[in-house]
Amino acid sequence: MKKLDMPIHVTKSFLPPFAEYTQEIERIWSSHWLTNNGQIHQEFEVRVREYLGVNNCSLLVNGHLALEVALKTLGLQGEVITTPFTFASTAHAIANSGLIPVFCDIDPYNLNIDVKKIESLITEKTSAILPVHVFGNPCDIDEIDRIAKKYNLTVLYDAAHAFGVKVNGVGIGNFGDVSMFSLHATKVFHAIEGGILTYKEDDARNSIELFKNFGISGPETVEGLGINAKMNEFQAAMGLVNLRYIASEINKRKSISIHYKKRFDEIDGVRFLPDFEGVEHNYAYFPILINSAEAGVTRDEMHERLKEYNIMTRKYFYPLCSDFDCYKSENDEHLENAKIIAEQVMTVPIYSELSIDLVDYICDAVREIVNKK
Ligand SMILES: *Cc1c(COP(=O)(O)O)cnc(C)c1O
Repeated sequence: MKKLDMPIHVTKSFLPPFAEYTQEIERIWSSHWLTNNGQIHQEFEVRVREYLGVNNCSLLVNGHLALEVALKTLGLQGEVITTPFTFASTAHAIANSGLIPVFCDIDPYNLNIDVKKIESLITEKTSAILPVHVFGNPCDIDEIDRIAKKYNLTVLYDAAHAFGVKVNGVGIGNFGDVSMFSLHATKVFHAIEGGILTYKEDDARNSIELFKNFGISGPETVEGLGINAKMNEFQAAMGLVNLRYIASEINKRKSISIHYKKRFDEIDGVRFLPDFEGVEHNYAYFPILINSAEAGVTRDEMHERLKEYNIMTRKYFYPLCSDFDCYKSENDEHLENAKIIAEQVMTVPIYSELSIDLVDYICDAVREIVNKK
């Protein structure tokens, strides 16, 4: 097979027609309102609430600070149980909020926190569970809810990957106490950078809105601690315009995903995740797992050799957060499945402009590498 002239990256940020964006931006020039809950921000917030099918949401400057704002305003203490199989942001948000991340093993079937292993990690110091809907696949929400009620724990979902996902027709932002969605440029839906918090309680809105703006409630009143985590009008404008395209974006990704599944099904040692029953997926990522005993190559070899074809993949998520120097502990044998998965997993390119011909090229390259073992 011939090497491609141009590299295929794992993702390519969606950009709307330029004129549609500038049309929104012109409003900023008329109003001179650049940030602090501007007109476009207000509109975008309404649209997000409708799209996600939630009662309440707040917009923030990025997903990571949204997580920190949530953790800080939920009044948590001590330990927070989370997954090591996630982006650095999840664990860092916990630690930066003065809390201790406690890593739980994952379920090798859906790559999310293993709900059967959560209870054994609960101590009198545990105040919350922070599960991640990894690659947009929903966690076992009912079981997490049951555990949280039994031990009186707060549940904060890292839904950074899960914009637009529904479970039995219900928007995924409706579960747990708070959920965070990331609107980073590389996510399935973006606002250049941005974050959303969804929540049930009206009180949560007050504390989140205050905290994201220095705790300021009036010209001469600061009610408490806070930071600056506001979304500006340029971000909101990008989000507002991109929301017009999210349905077609997800549909195109769905076709790509269907094609990948058909092709990878025929390659030994390559596993992919199924669509889960009752779930409306967003096809944000296409992770595959390389079983080296069957494929004859390791994930690392696959990742390197695909570069010879100009195909760029990502080892998502490797290394595990529990292997970062800042979180490393002697006692991590209980993370057995997470360790295996972190050695097998990689994400292959998926974005709406990726042609089916290129998907075939990627699959042919994977097959060639497996057959050459
Ligand atoms: C992207 C991401 C975040 C952080 O979001 P930003 O908007 O980039 O700050 C947090 N958690 C996970 C799982 C992510 O993928």
